[in-house]
Amino acid sequence: MSLLKPILEDAAALASLRRDLHAHPELGYQEQRTAALIADTLTQWGIPVHRGLGGTGVVGIVRNGSSARALGLRADIDALPVTERNTFAHASVHQGRMHACGHDGHTAMLLAAARYLAAHRGFDGTVYLVFQPAEEGGGGARAMIRDGLFERFPMEAIFGIHNWPGLAAGQFALRAGPVFASTSEFKVTIRGRGAHAAMPHNSIDPLPVACQIVQAFQTVISRNKRPLDPAVISTTMIRAGEATNVIPEACELQGTVRTFTVEVLDMIEQRSAGHGAGPCMLHNPSYDFNDELIPLGGSMWVRLAEKWLSEGPRAPQR
Ligand SMILES: [Zn+2]
Ligand SMILES: [Zn+2]
Repeated sequence: MSLLKPILEDAAALASLRRDLHAHPELGYQEQRTAALIADTLTQWGIPVHRGLGGTGVVGIVRNGSSARALGLRADIDALPVTERNTFAHASVHQGRMHACGHDGHTAMLLAAARYLAAHRGFDGTVYLVFQPAEEGGGGARAMIRDGLFERFPMEAIFGIHNWPGLAAGQFALRAGPVFASTSEFKVTIRGRGAHAAMPHNSIDPLPVACQIVQAFQTVISRNKRPLDPAVISTTMIRAGEATNVIPEACELQGTVRTFTVEVLDMIEQRSAGHGAGPCMLHNPSYDFNDELIPLGGSMWVRLAEKWLSEGPRAPQR
C-alpha cells in the first residue's frame, strides 16, 4: 500500500507521541492522561472533541461538504496490568502497567488519520474518530454505546484495527464474520477435607478432583461441539496447598473461555464453566508496538474513510 505523504511527514512526531503514551500506560476507565492528550491533540488540529463517553472515551468529529453520510473509525486506548520487561527509553514508568497490546499504536494511527482528514478534507460527509476506553475486558465499547455513542454520532458503519505481531508490516488481514472471539472467565473452588499427607484416607483430597476437571474440560472442546466451531478453554491458574506434607482442604481453578458464537459459549457454560499467544505476542512483557505501522494504519484509515464516503450507502450487513 502506498503511504500518504503528509502522514509520512508526521511519522516522527506521531512515533514520539506513541512512545509518550507507551511510557504512561493507564488501565481501563482510568485513561485520564491518555484521553486528555488525545483531546488536546485533536483540538490543536482544529477538530471538535466530545469527552467522557463511557467514562474516559473521546470522540473527534471531522466534517466536510454537505452529505449526511457518516462513518466511525475506532481505536482502543487502555493498557494492561503487566510489568514491562523492556529497558528502552520509552518503557513504562508505572510498575505493573504496560501497553502490551499496542493500543498506544492504535491511538497514534487514528490520530495520524485524524490530522490528515482534517487538513485535506477529501471526502463528503462526517468521520467520527472514536477513542474507546477499557478494551481489555472492561466492556469499554458497551459503555460508550450506553452513553449514546450511536445516537449522538449516528454512523453507517464503524471500523477498528488491531496490530498483529507475526503478520508482515504492511499486510492487512480481513475476513467475513467475527474476527475476535468472546472472552469469558471461570473460577471453580473444590472443597474437600485436609489431612496429613501420610494419611490420605483421612482426607477428601481436592487435587485429583481438580486434575480430573482440567482434563474433562478438554473433552468439552473435542467431543461436545461441532469441529468447525472454534472454541478454547484454558485453565490458567491452579491454587492449592502450602506444605509438601499436608493435603490441602481446597483447590481453586481459574481460566478463560473463548468462542465466536453465543451458542458455543452457552454449550460450554452448560458442560463445564461459566460465562465470564512465535513472535513477541500481545500481552507479553517484552512486547512493543512497531512504529512503522503508524503511517500504514493512518493511511489505511484515510483511504477507507474517503472510499466509503465516495461510494453509495450500503445496507447494514450482519
Ligand atoms: Zn489485548
Ligand atoms: Zn488489544
